[in-house]
Amino acid sequence: MKIRKRLLAAAVRPATSLSAGLGILAALALPLYAQTVKVTPLGGFDGEFCAQDRALIFEDPTGTRVLYDPGRTVVGATDARLGKIDIVLVTHTHGDHLGNAHTKAVGTGTCDKPDFSVSDIPNSNAVNIAIAKSSKIVTGSDMPAFFAAKLKATGGDPANSILARFGGSVTIGSVKIATVTAMHSNGLDPDYIGGDLGKAMKDAGIWGDVGLATGYVLRFSNGLVVYLSGDTGITADQEFVVRGQYNAKLTVMNIGDNFTTGPVEAAYVINELVKPASVIASHANEAGTVNGKVRAGSKTETFMKLVKVPVHIPLSGKTMEFDGSGKCTAGC
Ligand SMILES: [Zn+2]
Repeated sequence: MKIRKRLLAAAVRPATSLSAGLGILAALALPLYAQTVKVTPLGGFDGEFCAQDRALIFEDPTGTRVLYDPGRTVVGATDARLGKIDIVLVTHTHGDHLGNAHTKAVGTGTCDKPDFSVSDIPNSNAVNIAIAKSSKIVTGSDMPAFFAAKLKATGGDPANSILARFGGSVTIGSVKIATVTAMHSNGLDPDYIGGDLGKAMKDAGIWGDVGLATGYVLRFSNGLVVYLSGDTGITADQEFVVRGQYNAKLTVMNIGDNFTTGPVEAAYVINELVKPASVIASHANEAGTVNGKVRAGSKTETFMKLVKVPVHIPLSGKTMEFDGSGKCTAGC
């Protein structure tokens, strides 16, 4: 710290040592900026981008590891790909994000119709992983109380369910986490409630209320700001909040259509509203690739063709690295 202060003092000293000072400043700034956040997709099929793929691990340069929307392709809490998980993020409680079930093993079923025959009701894949890894679950809206109750019911610590409601943020390890709006729904399947109440709700076609669906904005220690769209339509917040306030440089954008923005709408969000430096496509609800190459005629291909900035395809198990400006520096 003392050395750093001395270097800074030298850097701002005028006249004779100005150029040397600027060099020192650059040397101080560069390593942090050039450090990378590692992004590793945990999809259903090694080296492919498949229909149920949502889960991504983000690793901060300091080692803080974040699991985003584990869904159905993480093979339960014992999946060897997980490693240490400090934070679990769940955008909303629909089964393909919370994980009402998961696959038996990586590469089971087909890329367009993956197997997810192992039930995770009533706990969910996300809660089982959080308990096994002693992770914090950070959610917005009214979801923290639901996760606290699930953690308590399954032998975990309810205090590990942490709130970040719209406009606020929490910092865990070296990652600052905020939630942002998602134009979607967030009904809780009565299967998670169970008993007579769950049955009565199911019979009536009513889902539980756990508040609004969300997206996230993460700020990492190298300065990288990432927008995780979650399931959403087009929202004005994508321009006024995600770009205007947070200035997100990397976006993970859901492109699957029907349930969320399709490839054309998602491309509009990227090109006109968020305007990041690069994008990772997500939630395509199709076989986006064959033998690791984007499939001709796919929604993934349409999205790539329409978007003006680099689009990176999340091939399961392949780690991509992003610097503070949102540029992919390795693995893309
Ligand atoms: Zn979804």
